[in-house]
Amino acid sequence: MEDNRKISWKENFRINRRAVWLWCREYPALFISTGLFSLTNALSPYVAIYFSAQIINELAGMKRKDLLIHYVVTLLLTEAAALLVNSLLGRWKNALSAPLHYYNEKRISDKLLSMDFCVADDNATYEKVDSVFQTENWGGWGLGKIYYQFQKFLEEFFKMLGGLALSLSLFILPVADEGLAFLNHPLCILLLLLLLMGVIVVSPYLETIGNRFWTESDEEIKLSNRLYFYVLALSGQQKSALDIRIYRQDIMNTYFFEQMLSMTNDKFSRYAKGKMGFAFALSAIASRVFMGIVYLFVCLKAWGGAFGIGSVTQYISAITALAGGIGGMLKELGEAGLNAVFLKEFFEFLDIPNRMYQGSLTVEKRSDKNYEIEFRNVSFRYPGTESYALKDVSLKFKVGRRLAVVGQNGSGKTTFIKLLCRLYDPVEGQILLNGIDIRKYNYREYLNVFSVVFQDFKLLALPLGQNIATGQVYEMEMAKECLEKAGIWERVRSMKNGLDTFLYKDMDEGGVQISGGEEQKIAIARALYQDAPFLILDEPTAALDPVAEYEIYTRLDEIVEDRTAIYISHRLASCRFCDEIVVFHEGRMVQKGSHEELVSCENGKYRELWEAQAQYYAES
Ligand code: ADP
Repeated sequence: MEDNRKISWKENFRINRRAVWLWCREYPALFISTGLFSLTNALSPYVAIYFSAQIINELAGMKRKDLLIHYVVTLLLTEAAALLVNSLLGRWKNALSAPLHYYNEKRISDKLLSMDFCVADDNATYEKVDSVFQTENWGGWGLGKIYYQFQKFLEEFFKMLGGLALSLSLFILPVADEGLAFLNHPLCILLLLLLLMGVIVVSPYLETIGNRFWTESDEEIKLSNRLYFYVLALSGQQKSALDIRIYRQDIMNTYFFEQMLSMTNDKFSRYAKGKMGFAFALSAIASRVFMGIVYLFVCLKAWGGAFGIGSVTQYISAITALAGGIGGMLKELGEAGLNAVFLKEFFEFLDIPNRMYQGSLTVEKRSDKNYEIEFRNVSFRYPGTESYALKDVSLKFKVGRRLAVVGQNGSGKTTFIKLLCRLYDPVEGQILLNGIDIRKYNYREYLNVFSVVFQDFKLLALPLGQNIATGQVYEMEMAKECLEKAGIWERVRSMKNGLDTFLYKDMDEGGVQISGGEEQKIAIARALYQDAPFLILDEPTAALDPVAEYEIYTRLDEIVEDRTAIYISHRLASCRFCDEIVVFHEGRMVQKGSHEELVSCENGKYRELWEAQAQYYAES
């Protein structure tokens, strides 16, 4: 297996550059404000360092009053101005960066929504998305980190420039003392610089080695994080609260704590005592060695008369900042190297191509809703599976009729609908709309031909009217009409805010908590509002009580009007009202006909299912 963690420095650079560029291109104002903030933030301490040195030099030397006043006033004014500008820039930058996390999540959800459904539905894709989320959550790695790295890197860079500017004269000013004249020699300066550079580089390098622990443990940390969010979501769900209590599903907590303890008590402490701790300790020692050399050099030069006592503080501070800047930049580069592993995973997800053929034919808009759909020898296998979920299905829908698709669980009913909505393309055969292969149509337009109520539909915690229209602006009369047809208008009318009532309490405390049956009726009203020529109802009555179910299917004609309805159910009693029933069994269409025809066919699958269910529906 390819080890994803081994990335060449060239690829590393390319990945990080792409990530920085992605942010810069999309949010230029954020990057300008951050750049300016980093500049003022990094340089403002040098004002105090420089002027303090001048003041001490003057105090220890000629004590010129005018000059001292000039230094103090300039120091105060410059400091005040720098603070003001810095805090303004900080506010600007913070305001712009506040939604960064949201931008990132949106990028992921936009990609998920725009990718071919068959890819989005694939387990491997779910794994990838989950991994990307976990990465962001447990250590702030991935794309989110890039912005903070960029800010830190710039700050360190400016810090280094400031330090360099204030420490240059340290190497140039000669000592007068003959005994220390060797300090003026270029070779001595070169040696010293090399020594300093060596120590500066070693410290962040060792720190990066220590930090490598995070990337090495990411799989385990992701597992802890996954458990954490799962446990959090589980305990926060109103719907499952009862189930959790009865079945003591807080067992998940036990798993979570076991996993966490094994990470913290075992692995963390092992790493801390071992290589990681050693690397961090050496890194700290290296920076102390550096300070020792700097102090020695600066003090010797001051001793030798190269500069005044005030400049000692300036040089010590400046050269420490210079080293800190270089070290900080190297540390950020090291972290960028580690982050590349996560960025790579993220970009692999963003780069998943859409392979489904996108046609360009426009779907003819017909006021008479006269559309005809044909399945011609259609077979289908889910990606990565061997067995056919649908095999050799041929079927024509008559316009304006009600077609029921029945069969046991797993017989292929939902797959049939997924193919019809072109969420997947058939492996063999063709699906035709008005005689033309559906692949040739513009996909958006083709989708407008269908309104679907899926089994696991989702309503949003928004006002009811907006849910019906799936938009903020909607026609009230039409929404009301659809709710009436779905048989839930009276309930909506009784709500205090009518169509403006929020569903659920997530977004509004006054929101209504509705039953499963009511949800289903609202979902049906939503499908009716789309006013598409085909209305597909996938197990639309599964959450309804028998009375409500009976009410829905006896009023099916009223609900459906002149649309073509495709009604999927394994409850045969609710399909009796359809003009035509097709029976699926193990992916094949085994029977077709009206209820009377099918029920009279003695050895047929329909009759077998009917008899098995008859006892439950004896009176209906
Ligand atoms: P039904 O709607 O009649 O209950 P489905 O169409 O959902 O049946 O499933 C038909 C067959 O396809 C089943 O064997 C099911 O396990 C399989 N199947 C459904 N969805 C997937 C999927 N996403 N990946 C792989 N196999 C699937």
